[in-house]
Amino acid sequence: MVVANWREGSGWESPELLPHAAIPMSPAMVGLHYGQVIFEGLKAFRRADGRMAVFRPEDHARRFRTSARRMMMPELPDAVFLEALDELVRQDQGSVPGDSSATLYLRPVMFASEPDLAVRPAREYRFLLIAFVTDALFGREPRPLKVWVNEDHPRAAVGGTGSVKCAGNYAGALRAQAVAQDNGCDQVVWLDPAELRWVEELGATNLFFVRTSGRSHELVTPPLSGSLLPGVTRDSLTVLAGEMGLKVLEDRVSVGEWQDDCRSGRITEVFASGTAAGVRAVGQVRTAGASWQIADGSVGPVTAALSEALQGIQYGRRPDSHRWMHLV
Ligand code: PMP
Repeated sequence: MVVANWREGSGWESPELLPHAAIPMSPAMVGLHYGQVIFEGLKAFRRADGRMAVFRPEDHARRFRTSARRMMMPELPDAVFLEALDELVRQDQGSVPGDSSATLYLRPVMFASEPDLAVRPAREYRFLLIAFVTDALFGREPRPLKVWVNEDHPRAAVGGTGSVKCAGNYAGALRAQAVAQDNGCDQVVWLDPAELRWVEELGATNLFFVRTSGRSHELVTPPLSGSLLPGVTRDSLTVLAGEMGLKVLEDRVSVGEWQDDCRSGRITEVFASGTAAGVRAVGQVRTAGASWQIADGSVGPVTAALSEALQGIQYGRRPDSHRWMHLV
C-alpha cells in the first residue's frame, strides 16, 4: 500500500510504499467519529501486449479533490495521486493474470487521523492507496439485473453530498439495499431527493436508458442534479455512444415514464455503468406496487456494443483515441 500523511502547517509528506498491513490509529480520530472520510475506485487492466494500464486516472484524481473540498479535507495533488498509482500497480502487477480474467481494483482513501472530539475539520489526515485483484466480467456475460425502486428513502439530500464519494453516503445506503434484496432484487434504484419521482442512480452505478424509434436509438442518462455521482464510466459511455452514431442526451426519466415506455416499447434497454460493474444490463424492475420487464429481459444490442467498446479500449484491443489509458 502507499501511505502519505498531511498536517496543517506542513502539508503532504512524501508517499511511502509499504506492505499491506493493519495501521495504527487513535480511537479518538476525527474520521472515525465524524465521518471525514473520502475514497475513489478505479481499475488497472492487463492489456493484450502484457502491459498494465489504468483507466482515466486523472479523472479519478480530480474527483478525489472535489470530494476532499466538499468534506473540508486537504486536496491531494494530482501528481501525488498518479505517482502512487504507478508505484502500486508496478508492485502488484505480477498478481494480475495475462488472460483478462482479472483486473487490479485500486482504492484510494483519505481520512481525518487527528484525535479530537471537537466537530470541526481535522488538522491531520492520512491518504492510503490499496489494491485488490478482482474478477473481470469479460467473457462471461452476466445475468441482467433485477432492480428495486426505493420510493421511501433517497440516497442523497438536496444540497448534500450525493455528488461526491464520502464514506457516509454508502453507509446510509445499506438499509435500502437490504430492502431491495428482501424484495428479491439485486440492486436499489435511487430517486431524486426533492420529489422522489425522477430516477437518478442504481446502487453504486449510473443508469442509462435506450429509447428506440424504428431503427434509431437514443441514449438517455439522468442529468448531474447534484445528488448523483458524476461517474467516469458514465462520461466515457456518452462519448462512445456518440461515436457509434447514437443521439445522447441528459434527461430526467420518472418512474411512471420508465414503466409506460417499457410497456409501449419506447424504452428497449436499460443498463448500469460503473468502474466495478462495467456495463451491466437491467432486465426487470419492481416497485412496491408494480413490476415490469425491459423488452424481453435479456442483454440488448446497444448495451452489448457499448460494453464491448469500453472493454476493447481498457484491454488495449481497440485504439485509445481519447487517451483514456495510462500505461504503467
Ligand atoms: N454512482 C455511485 C454512487 C458510485 O459509487 C459509483 C462508483 N464510483 C458510480 C455511480 C459510478 O462511477 P464510476 O463510473 O466513476 O465508477
